[in-house]
Amino acid sequence: AQERYTSIRDIAAETLCGTTIGLHMNAGLMADLPSLENSGAEGVGLFRTELQFLVRNQMPKRSELSALYARVLDAAQGKRVVFRTLDIGSDKVLPYMKPNDEPNPALGWRAIRVGLDKPGVMRMQLQALIRAAHGRPLTIMFPFVAQYEEYTAAKAEMDKALDRERILGHPLPETLEVGAMLETPSLAFAPTKFYEEVQFLSIGGNDLKQFFFAADRENERVRKRYDTLNVSFLTFLESIVARCEATNTPLSFCGEDAGRPVEAACLAAIGLRALSMRPASIGPVKHMLRQLDLGALRAVIYDARDRGEQSVRPAVMEYLRTQG
Ligand code: PEP
Ligand code: MG
Repeated sequence: AQERYTSIRDIAAETLCGTTIGLHMNAGLMADLPSLENSGAEGVGLFRTELQFLVRNQMPKRSELSALYARVLDAAQGKRVVFRTLDIGSDKVLPYMKPNDEPNPALGWRAIRVGLDKPGVMRMQLQALIRAAHGRPLTIMFPFVAQYEEYTAAKAEMDKALDRERILGHPLPETLEVGAMLETPSLAFAPTKFYEEVQFLSIGGNDLKQFFFAADRENERVRKRYDTLNVSFLTFLESIVARCEATNTPLSFCGEDAGRPVEAACLAAIGLRALSMRPASIGPVKHMLRQLDLGALRAVIYDARDRGEQSVRPAVMEYLRTQG
């Protein structure tokens, strides 16, 4: 099987019906970067910057971070890297920050909420990213945005950071893209101006699914009850695709489900055109997509939905079996 994946490494994930799906990889540590070449990923669709904060026992300095991000961009050799700003709190607690005792950390003070309430660390990180880009393109994504105003506030921090660098006479990024993760159901219903302003969106399926079903992603017992291919969830995802299409907002999906071939096939069938996953999943997902007729799979999904099935999985599995 490994050989099969190697043989398709350098070709596109083009379906039988001629649609190309962008396959990107998730990363977070320097050690992940060689995979950018080996896996055939188009770029890094999600760089989880908190991992580098988590592997230390003290807060990294701006200069250290900047050097690190520069190395990431060097290693990417011009491929796009989406840096997600610090996503701490909930399951990711920094050993050198005062723990805040919260009854429900997953619903608590985390990610962009921390970044906006205590902007010191986020500002430092944004500055480090701008310096690392040093005249190259830069892509930044804010995690856990739940409402439009959180995005505009975070974007304003980015603009301020750029101004500061400009005044200091430092080179600015050649281009700057600023986007958000869509991982709370509320953002799916944000005002249209949000969709128009944000430069791209990436669905964080792990969190989005957790909050959609109100089922803790860390709790096997409840997590397994709810299938990603549940009709309600797929219908919800489809509505996000539709809003993005209506506003020409580039959309990707970067939760773990993107790396599961059957799930990835269904995501493509309902309109996702970019997926980001762990590097080892790129081969299997590409192999699946290259044998797929998206229209036919979409029809299978809609039929199951019309029949009132809870999950489209049985119908999809049956269809894929008949396709060999
Ligand atoms: C997600 O929530 O799907 C996601 C990609 O982010 P993380 O898993 O880091 O929360
Ligand atoms: Mg998340």
